[in-house]
Amino acid sequence: MFNKAFNYIKSGGNPDFDSIKALLLADEQQAEDLFDYAYKIRLQVFGKAVYLRGLIEFSSYCSNLCAYCGINASIKTDRYRLTDEQILECADIAYGFGYRTLVLQGGEDHQFRGKRITSILNMIKGKYPDIAITLSLGIHSYEDYQEWFAAGADRYLMRFESSDDSIFADLRPNTTLVRRLEALDDLRKAGFQVGTGNMVGIPGQTLDTLVNDILLLYKLYPDMIGIGPFIPHPATPLANYPHGSVFTTLKELAILRIIMPHVNLPATTALGTLSLDGQMRALQAGANVIMPNVSPESLRKLYAIYPDKAGSQEEAVATHNRVLATIARAGLEVDWGRGDSKLR
Ligand code: SAM
Repeated sequence: MFNKAFNYIKSGGNPDFDSIKALLLADEQQAEDLFDYAYKIRLQVFGKAVYLRGLIEFSSYCSNLCAYCGINASIKTDRYRLTDEQILECADIAYGFGYRTLVLQGGEDHQFRGKRITSILNMIKGKYPDIAITLSLGIHSYEDYQEWFAAGADRYLMRFESSDDSIFADLRPNTTLVRRLEALDDLRKAGFQVGTGNMVGIPGQTLDTLVNDILLLYKLYPDMIGIGPFIPHPATPLANYPHGSVFTTLKELAILRIIMPHVNLPATTALGTLSLDGQMRALQAGANVIMPNVSPESLRKLYAIYPDKAGSQEEAVATHNRVLATIARAGLEVDWGRGDSKLR
């Protein structure tokens, strides 16, 4: 079954449910072939280049109640918000390391919306006009998205998390999958390079729902796809569920690289959290982006969306050096440019 599906997909066949399922079922040996082929494709499209994005986690306050997330509004924990000065210091650090993309990510915090985001964008772009800015702050109005794009934001990340609307509804009260997809559409219309993705092993997910996640990604054909294993946080209702599989996540990454050769695919921190060599293996299975954290070391552990997040005890320079070493170990090289989407 695997060989038939693999040959079909390699020959450029349209991804369908049965072939994607057969690829996801690959055993260890078959998966090696899948990873090698995905790596070959990434070499054809990107050469050895890996793009770096400096991640600034600007606020751990959140008004949402996502059942999987360790900073959801119902959890009693210490929280922080970065000041504008602190955000600019993080940008300085990232720029000093040579990064030409920043990702501003946070909980959905009423103090970080509308004009406040516009003024942060003006502040960063005023000082560093050559840096690309990615926002990741959830659902906002189309008008806000337009204003932020006009103020210089280039890209926006918003995972749909699960393509199954009942899983989505169970995990994310007060919103719907339809609304999330509508917001992704708004972002595209506003002009952003858009990133989305799913979690692997989220409670309720079956192999079939994961296949549908991949098919939805193919249908959306975004500029970037962020996927990572679910990791249970002890203070959430999902505390006792098992974490998602690193192996399955790597297989999903490889499949995505093969069916969407030009998409930007990060080796996510969640992979690096579950497995010491998880990010390196992701790079060898088709990933071409890493997002090193440049947030202040003293606050990192408060952005605990899941426990023991890789890098949460490090200073930015240690994270930077670790990421450079991972890229070198994978036999790849940093591309110090902005790493814009090749799909535009
Ligand atoms: N609030 C924004 C949003 O929801 O898009 C951005 C921040 S949110 C914390 C970033 C991502 O973290 C989510 O899209 C989700 O996939 C991931 N995440 C949250 N909790 C997680 C967990 N327990 N395990 C793995 N990933 C998780």
